Amino acid sequence: MPQGWIVKALSGYYYVLPEQANLHTKAVIQCRARGVFKKRGISPLVGDQVIYELTENGEGTVTEVLPRTSELIRPPMANAKLAVLVFSVTEPALNLQLLDKFLVHVAHSGLDALLCFTKYDLLDFNSSEQNEELKSKLHQVFQLYETIGYEVVITSAKRKQGIEEVSKRLANTISVFSGQSGVGKSSLLNAMNSNLDIETNAISMKLGRGKHTTRHVELWPLENGGFVADTPGFSQLDFMEIEVEELSSCFKEFAAVAEGCRFRGCLHLHEPDCKVRDGSTEGNIAPSRYENYLTFLHEMKNRKKRY
Ligand code: GDP
Ligand code: ZN
Repeated sequence: MPQGWIVKALSGYYYVLPEQANLHTKAVIQCRARGVFKKRGISPLVGDQVIYELTENGEGTVTEVLPRTSELIRPPMANAKLAVLVFSVTEPALNLQLLDKFLVHVAHSGLDALLCFTKYDLLDFNSSEQNEELKSKLHQVFQLYETIGYEVVITSAKRKQGIEEVSKRLANTISVFSGQSGVGKSSLLNAMNSNLDIETNAISMKLGRGKHTTRHVELWPLENGGFVADTPGFSQLDFMEIEVEELSSCFKEFAAVAEGCRFRGCLHLHEPDCKVRDGSTEGNIAPSRYENYLTFLHEMKNRKKRY
């Protein structure tokens, strides 16, 4: 029985890309799901690896959904593994609070994160003192996130810097690209897939521009066997699905330090003997990370009051 991946779901149809498909042909098969799914309460999702049967009219029937490795609610998709968080080093300027907010959502959703700092070429235009200062600050930021344990890549779509590294990382993986509009997500994808000439071409893709509702996710096959979800990704950064007590665990480097806090369930606010708060002044924890943690905690508490 043939296998494939659901790359799109629309109006009761599932569009399946056969596993051995040549990406340069339009090989997607329009399928219905077998009624048995509804009875069992399973609905196939974009990203599912499925078994299907071809029907006489050239369409297909999805007969089985293979076990999922992950399941996201917003956007609704299966088997996503990696969140690629794209930030430009300038134009727009790097926003560390937004970066930490994305990382909280990535941690909570159980995805791996790849941090892409792009448009790096824009810093090499001149070597003014100001520019050199910005560069050295940025490198401290890159180092900070690497030390915490995140994968960091410096990229430029314009001069193809870091593109191969990102491309390799996306191979055979379902990824979600996230980042503000205008940071360079589409450009990065285009730089990786210059030969992609199928209709679902990344060139026409404008991620995160509000084109799609969260219901409509589509996967774009990449040349190296991976898929990228055409979705604004973590468009809702409102902490609605995260509990106050969970926030600390979404800051990776807090975990080991927090074991030394006097109280279990310490929120690292004003509790006595809080190792996380101490760490932020003693150098174990970056002040920016601790500040952003506090900001998010307040946001979450205000949210709780309102409802
Ligand atoms: P998206 O909204 O995140 O998909 O961003 P785009 O890929 O559409 O890029 C926004 C703007 O930034 C466009 O004008 C791009 O030409 C420009 N841009 C994207 N990547 C780079 C880069 O690496 N270097 C430079 N100099 N400009 C870039
Ligand atoms: Zn604490």
